[in-house]
This record gives sequence, C-alpha cells and structure tokens, in this order.
Amino acid sequence: MEVSLSLGSESFLKWLDYANDPIFIFAVAGDGPPGNYINVNTAASEVLGYTKEEFLTMKPADLTPPHRLSHLMRMMQKILTDGQVTFEGVYTTVDGVEIPFEYNARFIEIGGRGAVLSIARDMSARKKAEEELRESEARYRVLVELLPDMVAVLHDGLIEFVNQAGQALIGAPDVGQLLGQPIARFVRSGHQESGASPLRHLRQMGDKLTPNANEYALVRFDGTRMDVEVQSTVIMYGGKSAQLIIVRDMTERKRVQHVIHHMAYYDHLTELPNRRLFHERLEQAVQIAHSAGGKLAVLFLDLDRFKILNDALGHDVGDLLLKDAGQRLQACVPPEALAARLGGDEFTVLIPHLENREEATDCASRIVAEIASRPFVINGYELFVTTSVGISYFAQDGQTVADLLRYADTAMYRAKSQGGNRFECYHDTMLIEDTPLSHIYMEHELHKALDTGELHLVYQPKVSARTGRIVGVETLLRWTHSTMGTIPPSEFIPLAEQTGLIRSIGQFVIREVCAQLRRWEEIGRAPLPVSVNLSVRQFQDSDLVDTVAGIVHDAGIDPRWIEFEITETLLMENTEVAMESLHALHRMGMRISIDDFGTGFSSFSYLNQFPIDTLKIDQSFISNLKSGRRAKSILLAMLRLGQSLGMKVVAEGVETFEQVAFLQRHGCAELQGYYFHRPLKVEHLEAELDRMNEMV
Ligand code: C2E
Ligand code: MG
Ligand code: MG
Repeated sequence: MEVSLSLGSESFLKWLDYANDPIFIFAVAGDGPPGNYINVNTAASEVLGYTKEEFLTMKPADLTPPHRLSHLMRMMQKILTDGQVTFEGVYTTVDGVEIPFEYNARFIEIGGRGAVLSIARDMSARKKAEEELRESEARYRVLVELLPDMVAVLHDGLIEFVNQAGQALIGAPDVGQLLGQPIARFVRSGHQESGASPLRHLRQMGDKLTPNANEYALVRFDGTRMDVEVQSTVIMYGGKSAQLIIVRDMTERKRVQHVIHHMAYYDHLTELPNRRLFHERLEQAVQIAHSAGGKLAVLFLDLDRFKILNDALGHDVGDLLLKDAGQRLQACVPPEALAARLGGDEFTVLIPHLENREEATDCASRIVAEIASRPFVINGYELFVTTSVGISYFAQDGQTVADLLRYADTAMYRAKSQGGNRFECYHDTMLIEDTPLSHIYMEHELHKALDTGELHLVYQPKVSARTGRIVGVETLLRWTHSTMGTIPPSEFIPLAEQTGLIRSIGQFVIREVCAQLRRWEEIGRAPLPVSVNLSVRQFQDSDLVDTVAGIVHDAGIDPRWIEFEITETLLMENTEVAMESLHALHRMGMRISIDDFGTGFSSFSYLNQFPIDTLKIDQSFISNLKSGRRAKSILLAMLRLGQSLGMKVVAEGVETFEQVAFLQRHGCAELQGYYFHRPLKVEHLEAELDRMNEMV
C-alpha cells in the first residue's frame, strides 16, 4: 500500500501527540542513509529524554547503538524497496539506557520530499516477561530432569515431552525416539492387554494429581514389563491443555511386599505355610465344604519325644530335625493338600475335597511310615524319630476351624497315649467334657474374674531409641486364676471375643487406664502416654466410641494421653462401623497405632486412608534380624515406609543389644521389649520412672 500524506500541515503533526507510542519522522536523502528527524511526537521525547528541538538536530543513527547500525541500514533499504517494514530494534535514551522497540516504519512524502514515519512500541515489558518465563522454564526443566520418576507431557495421548528418567525407565536409546509416540505403547492398564486408550480413565480424573497405584504396567523398549504407579494431572503446556503424568517404578516396593507377605505366611525354618496361612485356608475350605456339601480332613501331628531330643541335643539340632521332618511330611501329602507348621514340633495337614475317609488315613499312615522309615542324620547324630497323627473330619466331627483343630489334636493325644508312631481318627468318646480348659468352664470363670478382681493390668514401658528414657507404656491384661494360676491373654482374649465378654473386659481396661492417669495427676506425677489394645471384635460394637468418650469424660483426663493399638485386620475389613469409630476416636484426640504391623496383609496402600499415628513393627521382624541380610532389608523397608508416611515407628519385642543398635542406627523412634523392661505392675513402673528421673 502506497502511503502519501499531505504532510507539513500543522494539524496532522498535532495528531501525532495523541499517540501513546513514540512516533518519529525523518528525512530520506535519495536512496541514502536516514537523514535528520523532521518531527517527533511528545511520547518520543518522554521515552528517549530528548527535547523536540534536540531531535531536529539528530538522525536515527545517533540513537542507535553502534552494533545495531548495520541492521538499521538494512531495514532502511527494505523501507525504500518495500515501502514499509516491521522490525525489532534498539534506541538509546539520553541516559544511555538501551530500550528494545518494535518499529513499524513506512515511506511517506512530505512536501514532495521522501521521509520515513516510524511508530515505535516499547518492548521492555514484553522482553522482560519473556526472559523471566525462559528462566523459570529452565528452572523447572532442571527440576523435572533431576526427578527420579518419569515425567511426561501428553497431547492427545502422544508424548510431547519426557524427562531423562522416563527415557531410562522405558529404556529408549534417546529421548527423540519417544517424542510423538503414543503413551499407550508404553503404559498399559494392569487389567488390559490391548493398548487401546489405557489412560482414558486417568484423563477423566481431572486436574488433581491423582494417585492410582498398582494399576499399570510399563512395557519397555525391549518388551520387558515393569510394575508402575501412575499419577496424572491436567496442565497448560505450550498454550494448550495437556496431560502431565508421573510414572514411578514399583518393582522394589512390590518385591518387599512379596517378601513381607512370605514372612507373614510362611514358617522361616521349614518354609512350610505357617499357622496363619493354615487357618485362613482351612476357614475357606470349611466355607466351601459347607455350601457345596463336601468333606475335608484335618491331620494334626507332632514328633514323639521331640522335647527330650531338643533339650538333650540343643536347639540347633532340634531346628534341623524339624526342617528335615517338614520335608518328609511335604513329600507324603497329596498335591491339593496343604501341609503347615503351627509352631514348635506341631504340624498340620488340610486335605480339601475329600472323596472318602481312606484318602486321609492313607496319607496319615504314609506320614507315620515315612518319618520312622530311616534315621534323621543331623550334625553326625543318627536320630530315630516317630510321629503321632490325629485326624478329624468335616462335617462329621466338627464344623468350625477351632473344633476341627481341637478334635484332630485330641485324636493325636490318643495316638500318643497308645504308644505313638501311629495315627488315630477322632471319636467323640475322646472328648473329656470336664477338663478345666473346656470352653464352658473357662467362660464361666472369666465372667467371675471380672467381678472378683482376678483381672488386672500390667504396664510395659516404651523407651525413646535416642535417649533410652521411658516415653510411654502399653497396658497388657493379666488374669490370675485362683487355682489355674496365670492365664496369658492369648488364651482368654479369643474366648472373651467369642462369648462377647470382651465388651465388659474392654470397658474394664479403659476405666482402669483412665483411673490410673487420674491418680498420677492427683499425686502430681507427670502423665505418660498409655496404649490400650483394642481387638477387631471390640470395633464391631457400635457403642464403643460413646463408651470410651463417657469413661474419659467422667475421669476428667485429656484424651491425648490415650493411644489405641489396633491390628491391620481391622483396616482391611473396612467395615463402616469400625471406620467411623476409628475416625471418631481420632477426632476426640486419641492416637491410633497399628499393632503387630507386617503380619496382617501384604498391601500397604490402605495405610494413608486412615488416621494412623504410629506403626508398631511386629516382634517377628525384630527377632528375625539375626537371620541375615534379607530380614534386615525388610525391617529397613518397614522403617522407611513408616517414616515416609510421617508415622512414628515403634519396634516390639526388642530383646538383644544387637537389635537395639540396629534400630537406633536406622531411626526407629521407640523401642519396647524385654531388653528394657518386662510388663510391670504399676508400683514397679513408678519406681522405674523415679529411678530414671533421679539419673538426670
Ligand atoms: P501385643 O499387643 O502385640 O502385645 C505385645 C506382647 O508381646 C505382650 O504379650 C508382651 O508381653 C509381649 N512382649 C513384650 N516384649 C517382648 C519381648 O521382648 N519378647 C517377647 N517374646 N515378647 C514380648 P502379652 O501380654 O501376652 O499379650 C499378648 C497379646 O494379647 C497382645 O499382643 C494383645 O494383642 C493382647 N492383649 C493384651 N492385653 C489386651 C487387652 O487389654 N485388650 C485386648 N483386646 N487385647 C489385649
Ligand atoms: Mg499391643
Ligand atoms: Mg504387638
């Protein structure tokens, strides 16, 4: 467009002053360099600091820094050939500051002479913003590149950016081979083999960074697969909405979970399933047999005179003997049967889907014969060992796990009393109804115990791993029966749960604890955090929270001193009543601790869904420490897990100096166990506290 203005008219030049951007008009001498300014507007004077009069003695070259002069000349040429040009340039102000401008310059005629009208837009603000953006982008890029997890940005499912960790995780030779590729080629939903839109539901999760653990597999460049956790969010990228995903390698975590699962369900000496796994499988088998009307058999066995051998030859020999016996047992059972070690020299076998009784008796006689067939050769000893086996049948003898085990056990004793090295099937004449330990008798006695004060609490201190000072106590229930003596909680708590008596017992415990805290306050003792064990059964009681609140309120104590120890089973069952109670107790200010952590289930994903303050690592993990590196790395993983979830980690059953040193070294917060203190009567606990305080 040719521009020709009848300039020179004063009114036009006035209009220039209304513009906010600097405007310059300068003469052009033929096709030569730019000549003097003919006119400039007020904005030009204000921005560059020269008066209009000063401008009229200057040329554009006077305002251009020397290194930009040749560029200015090139632009001048362009104006002369094209009539107009837009370009970025720099002017120097009167104070010597260089200001970046975008010029829109065009050729005009004024009074028949050539001139250039140039409108300049100050670019400093935009340049600065661009510069800042570049810097912050560079910063984020460094951060993203340093992250150990894969970070990728996707547009319509195609990879637009991926960091180095992502390249390494996928195993691509270079990042370039990943850009533009569909993410579906590499990240697959755990359930879905085809690559079709695996991230669709990730996208639907919106703009929150959403954890979606366990669901995905990463298919690497070489075709191998890896378990990954994927998080996703929506971001703006390059001016468009895009999807940001973070992919984390879960192989190590899965491995640790697997190992912990193995430790929780298998006996480390014989590698056979342990009591827990046996109980679970038997429970399932009973349910199936119930609904399908099938049969099953339970075999219970132990080695005759094992205790004598063990005491005489030492536990190392005893352990090796059990290991060999476990192998021989395993060799005798049918493929669908489950052989387990319950503990000590007690083994069990579950034969599900039984066609006829002979299958069980054949198996039992094979076991008896195999154990006695040849001596066990251990550390140079030749040990002649026999075994006795008892058998019970579902549904004929018993219909519950407890009954089946008890009757098989009874039958085994009969086999032993017949001289051992044989098997016996259970027969109801074997049951001696009035043994002192029979359920009915015990239930009656436990009822009485509550009234007669045979139940009392002992307190086992927890010490700080750092200072060794007592920082809390766990209450443990004791029953001292008038004729049977001390009965351990492991025997009477399950009974109390079965009979519903646990309600009254639980209330008794909480009332005692509150009364104790009250007494300490009254005699001016500093209060101590006190842990109280609550079993799963207690949580099924919808009154639990109200009862606890009432007792705590009546005693007038601060709920923060009370911590409840619950087991993982509670969280896994995830019943609504139990969960509400848990949250309500936590809201009241009480703390929640996971007891026997690691023995319950193999998935940790539930942990951060509940209000948990403390993890108590089960004693089996502590006592396994001596057995080597694997046990150590599991314990370390558990410590790290607790720490990373911001929970306090307490170790239970600490018995040796080596265990203390290891736990201290790896940041376990509190230690509990016989190495420090056994469970103490309250007066002994107080004496310990006084002794500790005198020492400072
Ligand atoms: P828990 O809560 O895991 O308690 C720890 C058990 O380990 C206690 O056994 C304690 O005496 C024992 N222990 C502590 N330090 C060591 C050690 O260094 N080595 C070894 N080998 N053992 C140690 P206890 O008192 O027989 O209690 C057994 C279980 O009975 C408790 O396990 C808990 O689940 C339950 N229990 C105890 N009191 C109560 C109660 O008041 N209410 C409920 N619901 N359950 C209770
Ligand atoms: Mg406990
Ligand atoms: Mg425990």
